[in-house]
Amino acid sequence: MTAIPRITLKPGRDKSVRRRHPWIFSGAIADVSGHPESGETVHVCEHNGSLLGSGAYSPSSQIRVRMWSFDAKEKIDGDFIAGRLRDAIHMRQSLMPDTNAFRLVNAESDGLPGLVIDRYADFLVCQFTAAGVERWKNDIVSALAELVQCKGIYERSDVSDRDKEGLQTAVGSVKGLEPADLVETIENSCRFLVDIRKGQKTGFYLDQRDNRACVAQYSNNAHVLNCFSYTGGFGITALKAGASRVVNIDASSDALDLLNKNVKLNGLDSAKVANVQGNAFDVLRDLGRKKELFDIVVLDPPKFASSKDQLYAACRGYKDINMQGFKLVKPGGLLFTFSCSGMLDQALFGKIVADAALDAGKQAQIIGRLGQAVDHPVLLSFPEGNYLKGLLCRCDAKSR
Ligand code: SAH
Repeated sequence: MTAIPRITLKPGRDKSVRRRHPWIFSGAIADVSGHPESGETVHVCEHNGSLLGSGAYSPSSQIRVRMWSFDAKEKIDGDFIAGRLRDAIHMRQSLMPDTNAFRLVNAESDGLPGLVIDRYADFLVCQFTAAGVERWKNDIVSALAELVQCKGIYERSDVSDRDKEGLQTAVGSVKGLEPADLVETIENSCRFLVDIRKGQKTGFYLDQRDNRACVAQYSNNAHVLNCFSYTGGFGITALKAGASRVVNIDASSDALDLLNKNVKLNGLDSAKVANVQGNAFDVLRDLGRKKELFDIVVLDPPKFASSKDQLYAACRGYKDINMQGFKLVKPGGLLFTFSCSGMLDQALFGKIVADAALDAGKQAQIIGRLGQAVDHPVLLSFPEGNYLKGLLCRCDAKSR
């Protein structure tokens, strides 16, 4: 048997590995012995030679190694991968509410760096975003087919993170039947059609499930603005809970077409729904000029910052939409505001929202702090996994 290649860290750079952080950046590495290929398992050791664990090597990524295990004696093979999958599946079986659409594997936080697997009714959708899981793809797909009853497994490895890992886009069926163009799912008693093949992410924003249920609690008779609606997640949930009218805004006409299908599928009254296709930054201003007011405003924008150098512009973007959003809330009404930029932490987001309220001339209280649903766990040693944050703000009944 050939020896497992060895990565030696620079002096003092073992601290984050000892704290079980799964990433080793290229700058922390002093030496690479052997010639590990993309995704190959390597042993990681401290500068003095003592072993810290094993991980997957990624020669072209800044994240040069993603740790599989902090026990170097643990063998990384098909059984190891199947074991991690089994643990992730078991966690969902024991903790998930009644839904057939959920995240089965949440990458680093489920001990499988770079692997996302979402379930949509009878189909699984997988995304391989790192060299390690790419190398184990066949084992992962076979193990999944054994562990989970499903009609088919579809791959959506079409995310830009793959470029950084030196991997090309891969999309298509990898096991079993091809999914239909639209797959029907159920969440919070609402039915949603999901476009597994061409929809955003793997087809649906599963991380917002609990927050959609939270909006439903306040929606009876409410006039709701659902900004960045995608296929209607928050809006459909609000209507089903008795909202009197929902205005949806999204830049994507495909998303709004699917939203209309979802309205019909749930037997909801389309006269209560208005869709505006356009840039939310402009549409919110237009609504403000028309002096429209809402009981509930939901702001769920896409990720504005993917890297540190985008953070400043992202903050300005969040400030602007939150200011416009606050202006549209009736006295005593609610603003649900989110950020899915991992780069932006909870404290900074809170500050932006506070500044936005001030500039909008609103006094508001935080009455809820929101985050990602249980099927998107965050490993304590991997705070980067905690990307979704939200605030539920109640505007003063009187303007002060
Ligand atoms: N709230 C949704 C998910 C929103 S994802 C749900 O619960 O399912 C973010 C959405 O913002 C996407 O649908 C995307 O098409 C849309 N979007 C991105 N940039 C936009 C912009 N400038 N104006 C309006 N919509 C935009």
